[in-house]
Amino acid sequence: MEIRIVMPFDQAFHDPRSVAATERCCSQHGKDYCDQPPVASVYYPPNGRVSACARALHGIVDDALSKFTQGRQ
Ligand SMILES: [Zn+2]
Repeated sequence: MEIRIVMPFDQAFHDPRSVAATERCCSQHGKDYCDQPPVASVYYPPNGRVSACARALHGIVDDALSKFTQGRQ
């Protein structure tokens, strides 16, 4: 699994029909649940490409760290 973080948020990184591209909102939390502007575009399987506000990005990085450090202790 690969997680790719693109900073700053890049509208072109997203599916042109997605809410990330059309509404420039945080699609990790969902536009109805988050009013923060996206700071990054993230390829984040299995979710696919999501836009992330600062809080969402912290959550993604924490999740990625836990996955990528498994079995290395
Ligand atoms: Zn958010």
